[in-house]
Amino acid sequence: MAESVETESRKLLGRLRDTMAGDDPGQARLDKITHLIADSIGSEVCSIYLFRDEETLELCATEGLNPDAVHQTRMRLGEGLVGRVARRRQVVNTADAPNARGFRFMPETGEEVFSSFLGVPIQRLGESMGVLVVQSKQAREFSADEVYALEVVAMVLAEMTELGAFVGEGAAMGARHSQPAMLRGTVAQEGVAEGHIWLHEPRVVVTNPIADDPHRELERLKEGVEELRVGVDKMLSLAADKEQLQVLEAYRMFANSKGWMRRMEEDISRGLSAEAAVEKEQSLARTRIGQATDSYLRERLSDLDDLSNRLLRILTGQGSDTGAELPPDPILVARNIGPAELLDYGRGLKGIILEAGSVGSHAAIVARALAIPLIVHTERATLEALNGDHVLVDGEQGIVHLRPDDTVVTAFRDKMAMQAAAAERYASIRDKPAETLCGSLIKLHMNAGLMADLPSLDGSGAEGVGLFRTELQFLVRNQMPRRSELSALYSRVLDAAGGKKVVFRTLDIGSDKVLPYMKPNDEPNPALGWRAIRVGLDKPGVMRMQLQALIRAANGRPLTVMFPFVAQYEEYTRARAEIDKAMDRERKLGHVLPESIEVGAMLETPSLAFAPHKFFEEVGFLSIGGNDLKQFFFAADRENERVRRRYDTLNVSFLSFIERIVERCEVSGTPLSFCGEDAGRPVEALCFAAIGLRNLSMRPASIGPVKSLLRRSNLDDVRKVITDARHRGDMNVRPAIMEYLRGQGKS
Ligand code: PEP
Ligand code: MG
Repeated sequence: MAESVETESRKLLGRLRDTMAGDDPGQARLDKITHLIADSIGSEVCSIYLFRDEETLELCATEGLNPDAVHQTRMRLGEGLVGRVARRRQVVNTADAPNARGFRFMPETGEEVFSSFLGVPIQRLGESMGVLVVQSKQAREFSADEVYALEVVAMVLAEMTELGAFVGEGAAMGARHSQPAMLRGTVAQEGVAEGHIWLHEPRVVVTNPIADDPHRELERLKEGVEELRVGVDKMLSLAADKEQLQVLEAYRMFANSKGWMRRMEEDISRGLSAEAAVEKEQSLARTRIGQATDSYLRERLSDLDDLSNRLLRILTGQGSDTGAELPPDPILVARNIGPAELLDYGRGLKGIILEAGSVGSHAAIVARALAIPLIVHTERATLEALNGDHVLVDGEQGIVHLRPDDTVVTAFRDKMAMQAAAAERYASIRDKPAETLCGSLIKLHMNAGLMADLPSLDGSGAEGVGLFRTELQFLVRNQMPRRSELSALYSRVLDAAGGKKVVFRTLDIGSDKVLPYMKPNDEPNPALGWRAIRVGLDKPGVMRMQLQALIRAANGRPLTVMFPFVAQYEEYTRARAEIDKAMDRERKLGHVLPESIEVGAMLETPSLAFAPHKFFEEVGFLSIGGNDLKQFFFAADRENERVRRRYDTLNVSFLSFIERIVERCEVSGTPLSFCGEDAGRPVEALCFAAIGLRNLSMRPASIGPVKSLLRRSNLDDVRKVITDARHRGDMNVRPAIMEYLRGQGKS
């Protein structure tokens, strides 16, 4: 790049900065800017078009076109060359504008005399704000240097935070961030909430886009990138699993990318500050994220986005701790969040909105435990939301209303009031049994995994904890918990349960649940891999430590232990033998033994349903882990949104399979429960009860709705509906059940 071009560019940016910082009223300033740019580039025309709303652009300032057209000329997104630049977010550079594809003649501007056209998008961090255009009479294509210079100027313009206020004759029409926006995602925890945005990773604010001393800025950039590389290498050395490793490898690749570095260096030599150069690259990546159809590419571009954020933090010194205070009723917005970070926020949060995440992620499990509405896969959430924005989270429909208008707020509040009324209804039956009209008694328990869950035991009216997922304690730490810590925690759980039964499930790690401090285990199909009881039996150290902790925590009280993911009889007997050994050891060490001990297994693999009769006689109890059982029954990954929804729990095959398990347990007298997510869905729960299940364990918030439906139902009738549907050859009993419930006025 010629030295003189760089000097020109720096001079222009310097003058732009002075103009932007000047005292002129807004419109005069914008006019001056167009004058400066036209002058510097040597074109007759320079115009700035800004978004009036998501679909319309407005001419907001011009040098060279008819001044009367300012704030009058408008075009739709995609219309004319300007609209094309805005829609595609790509440069249009043509020597013969009137004959270029998409040209639209706008007589009021007097532009017919101009032949060449160069338009570049004005965008900030992937958010399109408008278009910057230069035109000249002479038919020539603008040089690569000129295009580049204009892009740099557009970047600086985008930093003018009050840009949106220029639209509509200076009326404060507000930038896009002050308009309502509706975002869609997937529900991971139901519930509705109203509150204010809290960005988990606050946006870095670049306050000095233009710099005088390019050498100094280059130095700063190099130092910053070096710090970034060291940081990434350090993270790599600590990476705990394959996925994390892959992401970090991609980070390292970007951090060492010569192209990335070269582009930023060029921007700096044209007068941008180091952070503005990083942000320009980030903007580009964000635009591409929006356009990429390939999910792998999107992921990689998101990595680059994240990396740019880190670099911006280093350069600006803005850590995640900006000193800002949590707003009232905070609703957390993040790209993704780990369970430990979520726990740090605790119950203070009213809702959570994630761009990534998944229904079965650990964060989702924690959000569920804390009963905080959670929406995942909410695209653009971190781009659209600003700290403090008013927001409504509809965790029924998976919709987020950002900066909602009054009609939406009113409708939403009505919905919240209806839910509150329903909650009151549930509270009124809290201490009543889940007894059906035909006199069957269904015991409803709750699932838990954190100390924070225990208060729900009384609040929900659960009979006990039917599933305590002990792995959560392991997942939220960054090192293996000690036996004494576990024992103290289990003891507190039992204290809090106040004599109600707690079924402790031993560690279920592996598959999706990877402990950050354990060596990653590279498996092609982790859900079918070395997980849960398989790890416990092969490497019994941790399981023994956990069993000891449980026995000590019971300290003379009754203890119930359940082994996860038992696929065959022999696994159960070996695990059971570990308990006997642990009891022996504890006795010899002089510890008080539990008053009684019940040992059971989860039925999560179809194979166990066909285990020998002797197993059913021997096992203390069984609990159907429907989440896993269903994924193996249908061969459909529970984490994969695409296949997960394909198969319904009320499919006749699956329901018949569950019924078969119920029958086998009846014959052998084995206590049976169901503790997968389906137990907490009222219609599913009703069908389970109709085919003979008498114990269900679910999240606390589901107990009210499930109990309410059970108490209003006659299981004989429901059973008949199921039987009739099967006889008719229905593939799924849901339609028949729903029709029956509608007839009863219960749906
Ligand atoms: C299940 O598989 O249904 C279950 C309750 O266990 P988890 O969801 O923890 O795998
Ligand atoms: Mg399971």
